Amino acid sequence: MESLKNKLDIFEVVQRYVKLKKAGRYFVGLCPFHKETKPSFYISPERQIFKCFGCGEGGDVLKFLMKIENLNYPQVLEKLKEDYGLEIKSTPSELVREEKEILEINYAALKFFRQNLKENKDALDYLRERGLTEKTINDFELGFSPGNTLLRDYLYSLGYSLEKIKKAGFVDEKNFDRFQSRLIFPLRDERGRLVGFTGRLFQKELGPKYLNSPETSLFKKSQFLYGLFYSKEYLLQTKKVFLVEGQFDFLLAWQNNLKNIVAVSGSALTEDHLRKLKRYSQEIIFAFDNDNAGFSASLRANLLAKKLNFPTYQAIYPQKDLAEFFANQENIPIKQEKFEDYLLNFLLEKYGQEKGQEILNIFLPQIKYLKPIEINNYLERLSSLLNISKNLLETELKQIEVFVPSFEEKELVEEKSLEEKFSLKLISLIYLQKDSLVLEEAQNFLPLKFKNLLERVIKNELNENERDYLEMAKNFYLSSKISLSRELKKTLINLKRVVLKNNLKNLHNQLKLATAEEFDKIMLEINDLLKELRKVEKQ
Ligand SMILES: [Zn+2]
Repeated sequence: MESLKNKLDIFEVVQRYVKLKKAGRYFVGLCPFHKETKPSFYISPERQIFKCFGCGEGGDVLKFLMKIENLNYPQVLEKLKEDYGLEIKSTPSELVREEKEILEINYAALKFFRQNLKENKDALDYLRERGLTEKTINDFELGFSPGNTLLRDYLYSLGYSLEKIKKAGFVDEKNFDRFQSRLIFPLRDERGRLVGFTGRLFQKELGPKYLNSPETSLFKKSQFLYGLFYSKEYLLQTKKVFLVEGQFDFLLAWQNNLKNIVAVSGSALTEDHLRKLKRYSQEIIFAFDNDNAGFSASLRANLLAKKLNFPTYQAIYPQKDLAEFFANQENIPIKQEKFEDYLLNFLLEKYGQEKGQEILNIFLPQIKYLKPIEINNYLERLSSLLNISKNLLETELKQIEVFVPSFEEKELVEEKSLEEKFSLKLISLIYLQKDSLVLEEAQNFLPLKFKNLLERVIKNELNENERDYLEMAKNFYLSSKISLSRELKKTLINLKRVVLKNNLKNLHNQLKLATAEEFDKIMLEINDLLKELRKVEKQ
């Protein structure tokens, strides 16, 4: 399917239905899906997506065709064949040739990056300061990309055409080097093939901290795990894998003889990642950063892991990340705890027994996929710890729909509910104009996955997809001549209203199953919520 989408340019398709005008990196036009007089319909040729900031419709070229022609998936494929002469499968030999070309040019670039690291004292100093040895730097082929057009010119001088350099992802839309003044981590897939690179900022510069090669037929972010090529034999031996966030965590652990390890590196963990790990390992130990983002990442990762029946553990250490744990000590084994045990203790400490609902909201989804006997065990513990009847806990658990938040490209563009619509709009506006009052309230009201996105906005830690999306939104709001501060307030109120109403709905559901004493408590909560809602409606 990927290859089909690569051949079908979204601009080419959409312009048959919508009059498009160029606006910077985008094309804009009047939305075909809702009535409007000023254009809020955007096309990003780079990402091959469309997005309407008016009605919220968005997606890739296939979604566009399905929506505008009112077709289902097989019908769209049929239409593509008729109108565009596109067959679903590209010929394997063509694909093989393309992959070979990308590999060849990747190896040429690697040589360039390696040589440039040797000549750059700042970059080398930084790597040493982080605790990496010469051996690690060499074994893992770290490099440096100076930027400007130096790599492009080098590759050109070797006889590669600009088209090929582009295809392999080494230049941006202005034909400058993609990696400007970045440390380079080569990405080898589990077969050892050099499929791409990660560029990491190390000096105080603007931009995403991690930047990956774009996706090619060889490099799929949602399937790539850093270090698997090196660590797979250790995974097979121990049947256990440590999962960490970044390359530095991986490399420092490796240097200290912790070798059954892989890093997710700059993108969200997916089911495909875990399915791959399943081939080498039976248990997963999470060792994400010791901060809020790391905590939410482990919750999310655990939900995915439980769907695939992985027993999971949490690595326990006081430092801010695994890299720091290993930076000052050698060969010390890391303490591990069963993930659910760790989580329950952590939540009890954080919220205290009196905030039982907060604890349940986070904990119950995490045990939903455990074996019945384990579930029973945890429900008994919860019941006595929080003084809630076990029956009620059981019903709550049954009602929970486990939802794994994801930040795949599509998810940011496609809004599935009003809550998502207003959350995304609010974050887009905050990205544009940081209003400290709104910011504080937003942190209270945003659903968890958007709270995390907002945190990444504040810390300037967005991944490429997120940054691209927010840049596109920024472009739209800047050109639409609205009052930003008024729009911010309006969106916040809309979001509050939706969130409060959703909470009310949940409480009403709980009421149906409550015991007499729980009934009173829930009624009080409902009253509070109604009061708050009335306040919001008046604003
Ligand atoms: Zn629209």
